[in-house]
Amino acid sequence: MFEIGTEFTPTGRTGVIHTPHGDIATPAFIPVGTQASVKGVLPEAMAALGAQAVLANAYHLYLQPGPDIVEAAGGVGAFMNWPGPTFTDSGGFQVLSQGAGFKKVLAMDTKGLTDDDVIADGKERLAKVDDDGVDFTSYLDGSRHRFTPEVSMRVQHQLGADIIFAFDECTTLLNTRPYQEASVARTQAWARRCVAEHARLSAAAPSRPYQMLFGVVQGAQYEDLRRQAARELPQEFDGYGIGGALEKENLGQIVRWCCEELPAGKPRHLLGISEPDDLFTAIENGADTFDCVKPSREGRNAALYTPAGRFNVTNAANRRAFEPVFEGCDCYTCAHYTRAYLHHLFKAKELLAYTLATIHNERFTVRLVDGIRQAIADGTYPDFKADFLGRYYG
Ligand SMILES: [Zn+2]
Repeated sequence: MFEIGTEFTPTGRTGVIHTPHGDIATPAFIPVGTQASVKGVLPEAMAALGAQAVLANAYHLYLQPGPDIVEAAGGVGAFMNWPGPTFTDSGGFQVLSQGAGFKKVLAMDTKGLTDDDVIADGKERLAKVDDDGVDFTSYLDGSRHRFTPEVSMRVQHQLGADIIFAFDECTTLLNTRPYQEASVARTQAWARRCVAEHARLSAAAPSRPYQMLFGVVQGAQYEDLRRQAARELPQEFDGYGIGGALEKENLGQIVRWCCEELPAGKPRHLLGISEPDDLFTAIENGADTFDCVKPSREGRNAALYTPAGRFNVTNAANRRAFEPVFEGCDCYTCAHYTRAYLHHLFKAKELLAYTLATIHNERFTVRLVDGIRQAIADGTYPDFKADFLGRYYG
């Protein structure tokens, strides 16, 4: 299921993940299609720009349209007309991020937040954790729901992605150390329940393509908790996710701690990542795949990537810039359109702006990771990294 290619650091490597819907050459950037759609972009365009797989969110598809609809359509790939490999996350992150006070997102960036923002008592919370699972309120209509490890496995089997994740508790950096310890123990117990339910569901549907189940390592910023969590996850998992509270400053060491403890022969996915330099950090320390919403989200905000850094195409300087986003970009947008046209589309609030900007940013990110993978194989990784980061961050 996973073959290791070139090992270039104690935990970093290239490889290939084999899935029933095709191979993924790693390291690989996995674009996010939260609701079974990469916002504004046709699946054919995602394939043309080199995306190897897409990741959808079980939580969103559970609420809308419902996993029974996706199952009846033949699974998330068939439903969204994406023939390649697919991932779904477990729903844990979205379910639990609603428990974190009024901040929609778990405290990936804790600057400017206080404890009260994240773990306030007395404020109305949308999610409540107990040892068996999580009660939560739909963000769509206020209806009440409950996710347990078994529910998450059943939902992800119905969604039918090639790679699925065990249900985990995602904490914030502001939870106390005793809470993190209890949470890691809870996530380990849930992992065993996910393995059992996944085995039962797989055996009950032998004609369906096998779904790889990844366990998730939590433990926040604590080395001992991360290492213990990684060591104690069940060996039955087909791969592993590294989740939870990660800050830019400690991303590399957290990934390394986990990868030093995890079985080397199985793939590892880093759940959520942000800036281009984080890609290098994650790959060097042992991440094989990683998902990221930033290229599409920033594209929809008119922030475009170039080798010389990111710029906003709505800036006045681009009004008469009859040139591509950057010379040398091989994306569809740059082959056919100019900065001036993108500037106009954003100013005029035309929907095509989102499509063209997203295609460019997704292609930029895919191509960067393709370049990293090639450089590792060629033995030129240090030069490639120094060259890219030197230009990107000036
Ligand atoms: Zn381009």
